[in-house]
Amino acid sequence: MSVSGQGAVKSRVRFAQWVLSTETASGPPIHGAECAECGEVSDGADDWDGPQMWCLQHAGRTGHTLFRGTVTGYFRASMQEVL
Ligand SMILES: [Zn+2]
Repeated sequence: MSVSGQGAVKSRVRFAQWVLSTETASGPPIHGAECAECGEVSDGADDWDGPQMWCLQHAGRTGHTLFRGTVTGYFRASMQEVL
């Protein structure tokens, strides 16, 4: 979109079909856990084993019992077709 010297707005619209896919080249999904009571977070890991062990250790140390599990990964959007 651009604005010309007279204040008129010009825009160009293009319709396209986009597809979203999992991106693995940027690294594997990272698993983690966060205490829902104090906000402390575990280290990231390639699977759930480390974060779940962290939850149990955190519960034993603090008495906090509710945790949020997270998986962080990448997606790649690519244009499939210009309509
Ligand atoms: Zn906590």
